[in-house]
Amino acid sequence: MNKEEIAPHVKEIARVLEGKVKEQDIEKDLDNYLNVYRMSLEASKRHIVRKYGGDPNSLTKGERKLLSQLGLSEQSVDLLVRVMSSNTREVMVGGSPKTIESGILADENGNTVKFTVWDLSKADLKAGENYLIRYAYTKEWSGQPEVHLGNRAVVELRPQDEVKVPDSVVVPQVGGGYSAPIVAKVADLRENMNNVTLTGRILALKKKEVETPSGKKAMYTGIIADETGKVEFTAWHDFGLKDNEVITVSNAYVKGWKGIPRLSFGERGQVTRPKVKMPTVDELSRAVRKSIDELERTGGASDVIVTGTIVDIKKGTGLIFRCPECNRVVQKGVCQVHGKVQQVPDLRIKVVVDDGSAAITAVMKKEVTEQLTGITLKSALDEARETMDPEAVGHRFEEQLLAKPIEVRGNVISDDYGLSMNVTEAKFIELDVRTEAEALLKKIEVI
Ligand SMILES: [Zn+2]
Repeated sequence: MNKEEIAPHVKEIARVLEGKVKEQDIEKDLDNYLNVYRMSLEASKRHIVRKYGGDPNSLTKGERKLLSQLGLSEQSVDLLVRVMSSNTREVMVGGSPKTIESGILADENGNTVKFTVWDLSKADLKAGENYLIRYAYTKEWSGQPEVHLGNRAVVELRPQDEVKVPDSVVVPQVGGGYSAPIVAKVADLRENMNNVTLTGRILALKKKEVETPSGKKAMYTGIIADETGKVEFTAWHDFGLKDNEVITVSNAYVKGWKGIPRLSFGERGQVTRPKVKMPTVDELSRAVRKSIDELERTGGASDVIVTGTIVDIKKGTGLIFRCPECNRVVQKGVCQVHGKVQQVPDLRIKVVVDDGSAAITAVMKKEVTEQLTGITLKSALDEARETMDPEAVGHRFEEQLLAKPIEVRGNVISDDYGLSMNVTEAKFIELDVRTEAEALLKKIEVI
């Protein structure tokens, strides 16, 4: 990228950093990441903002989303939708009556969402019409996003053929306590969703006996998958499930553990066996590729692949020592719980991977670290002994890792520290522009 092309991005970074950093400095950094380290534009921008203490999420995305991609608290989102129903009503706002409009939106995938227009002079959505809605926001209601159009909203009427909503869409009634049935893919599942219908293949199945106040009860746990991913499930009732079969579950609900969604269905749930095409067990067993902002929206996922650039090396990378009792990392042979202990050496990598959409912390255990770096625990210990510097290995990892494109696979969780992946496989990759372009061309040819 040349100076002219970089200029608007420098301005944007300066805006997010609120003028704390000189534009010349930002320009120098950006040029360096783009043209020397060959990081992507988005990853570079995010990295610079983070480096100067700003929030990378304040960079504009200007993103259009499908209804299935909506998060529970979008700040500004664009949607191309058909209005399935629309009604006005009076509400009291600050002691005076105000007319608002609410109804249901649907998109081409047949997903639906409730909407509310708070300023009818900005937008008036008529049932049966298609609109491009810009600068909407979402709020959570009963575990699901609802779209709101405030005074920043801009709507544009679009032609009838631009949004073709499938005939099978069930338009929920708008009213108190409703929870729209959602036909979801695995990738759409979010914690606290209710009334979910999902079709997938059972990849694993286990029966468990649990004690309940009314005696012993059988429950079933396992993994169900579709082409968008895998999810663990719990069935609190015997539906006669079998390994490898394709089922449609309806009236299921979603619970989560550290952001990883988990599908549950009990006696109110239903299981049918549809005759539909579904990839084979082998195909479904592979990890699904995800963008990191997609993982941010879902909050976590089982067995996914992420590719990006290593933009930061975290403390605790390299040769570390653990407590033999509790496995905590110890400092100078002292565990914060067990005091002075016979410490056990270990290797670990903790890095920040950015794919241009968002960032994730990737944590690699000894086996993955050894395989990725070619440095074994034994050679790391030898090196530490020779150099008298236990941090020498960490510095070598840093040289090997920083600014390198990488592919990582594993489970993604979210907690107070954000998203992190327990990496089960990692490899360096070539971010080859030509291969990507060829793959894209192939796709176009098939269509
Ligand atoms: Zn301990």
